[in-house]
Amino acid sequence: MTEVDETTIVFVAHLDMELEILTRRSGDRTKVLDDITLQLLEGETLGIVGESGSGKSVLLKAIAGLVPVNSGAVYFETPPEFMYRAVKLEKEYVQGAKPGDGSAPKAAESISPELSELRNGFSIIGKSLRKTRKSRKEIYFVFQGSRTAIDPKKTVWDTIAESFKRGTDLNKSEIDLRIKEVAEAAGLRETDLQKYPNDMNVEELQIVNIARALAVEPKLAILDEPTSDMDISAKAQILNTLRDYQYSRGMSYIVASNDLNVIRVLSDRVAVMYLGKIVEYSTLSNIYSGMLHPYTKKLISNSITLENGKGLIDGQIGDRSPVIPSIPAGCAFHTRCPVAFKNCGWTAAEVAPLMREIMILNKSTDLSNFPPYHEIIPDPETNSLKMTFEGGTHISYEFVEELNRLIEARVLLEGGTPLQAVESVVVSPGGDFVTIQMLKPRVPKLMEVRPGHFASCFQYGGLDEPQEKAPGDAEKQPNEVEAT
Ligand code: SF4
Repeated sequence: MTEVDETTIVFVAHLDMELEILTRRSGDRTKVLDDITLQLLEGETLGIVGESGSGKSVLLKAIAGLVPVNSGAVYFETPPEFMYRAVKLEKEYVQGAKPGDGSAPKAAESISPELSELRNGFSIIGKSLRKTRKSRKEIYFVFQGSRTAIDPKKTVWDTIAESFKRGTDLNKSEIDLRIKEVAEAAGLRETDLQKYPNDMNVEELQIVNIARALAVEPKLAILDEPTSDMDISAKAQILNTLRDYQYSRGMSYIVASNDLNVIRVLSDRVAVMYLGKIVEYSTLSNIYSGMLHPYTKKLISNSITLENGKGLIDGQIGDRSPVIPSIPAGCAFHTRCPVAFKNCGWTAAEVAPLMREIMILNKSTDLSNFPPYHEIIPDPETNSLKMTFEGGTHISYEFVEELNRLIEARVLLEGGTPLQAVESVVVSPGGDFVTIQMLKPRVPKLMEVRPGHFASCFQYGGLDEPQEKAPGDAEKQPNEVEAT
């Protein structure tokens, strides 16, 4: 993230949210938000971009305290001397490292008493509304889905006026002036102010939704897909209005959008999200002129349709059953990454079909040392495959060497990349089965690749850190023959 800066208005630290995942075993959980750390400076906009399902909306709600999280902190309006310490200590703190996540050398630390005190004193996470009322008054959340966000029984005027009930020092005529000003700036006509929501289309309602946030001039406005229902001209006007209000009132925004134009027009810094993680973060110009992460490259080259992500539940936490699909091991993007390589997190389950293909294609050849296999069983615990053979077969070294050669050849063909992760092929001591050991999946960490430009991708490092021994490395068997 950026350096500790006294104009930091929001610091999000190590935010984690876990939910039950969609598996046959009940109780399996995965992270919907995984160790999210972000910084927003006063008067700036932080844009959050990623496909639907990447976790953008959930993150916004978590920052605003609208959904519970498992751990982490959100510092808002913290006095500069405490914010400085909190940012420094939070950056030094390494959250609960899991085996194999690439962070083995720096062990998980428990929170220091000073950090714990800072979280207790200044983080709004996990605090009651009563305790954080003053801070929350300065945060305004603009929800997606304008029609459901607006009371159908209130006129537009009353809807905007209602925002001031959160507390204001303004008198009635000052409030009236604010409403007229913001309505005009947002492109609403005077006659619109007396309309009811049912008399308006979704585009107009979305404008009302934003206007009522701007009217109270909060220090922080959090906007979730603010222009999704607008046509080009309405969008241009509302983006200009948001920028004008920001410049003239010093407001800060966090904006999540599937629309890259919205992100480009509004953002000073951009965080790219993929399956609950920040995978790239920097200034807008760094992201656009020197993007690093393969996912960002796909997003910005428009080879991914942002609306069609198949990821986590996004924007719906609390509205429907929080059951989500599981996240791929290693680098979560490895299943879609065009430049993935052997260390990117291939699992035994992903390699099993390729090994079956090799065995089936060679089963009917006349190679004397190629025995008929019985089954190939992936073991997720050790990330290995156990290959068994038809009764009484004794596995020869020649077969293992031949298998190694076939694996190497298949790597070069389409879809063969997962086989790069085969670390060794070992015959059991009794010669009756073969263990194919894969590299242990490791998770890339968000690291500073260039000054102020962060990305989580093994192309830029993170693999030279020592990792725990892979299960297959533990004890070599006497009959072992390794893959090259
Ligand atoms: S670590 Fe980098 S190269 Fe590997 S799959 Fe992830 S994004 Fe692609």
